[in-house]
Amino acid sequence: MYKYNQTTCKEEPYTPPVEDGYYPIYCDNMDKKINCAQCGKEITFGDGYTSREIYSGPWGHMVCVDCMEKEMEREREYEKRSDI
Ligand SMILES: [Zn+2]
Repeated sequence: MYKYNQTTCKEEPYTPPVEDGYYPIYCDNMDKKINCAQCGKEITFGDGYTSREIYSGPWGHMVCVDCMEKEMEREREYEKRSDI
């Protein structure tokens, strides 16, 4: 698992917060309990959003709605900086 750091623009090895959590990239059961890859909170797969920062290969892991909002906030900050 890797995390893209939008402040340094670098990819870093990433360990999710809940050690024995479940962080699937793909799941065909939307009601399956998984963990948010950012904060570790338990959510259902169907409630998750594909992370823009945490991934394995080309696939993003699932994050909860709160973490997705924070990711989008960091992305907006990043875009603001790149406009200069
Ligand atoms: Zn989260």
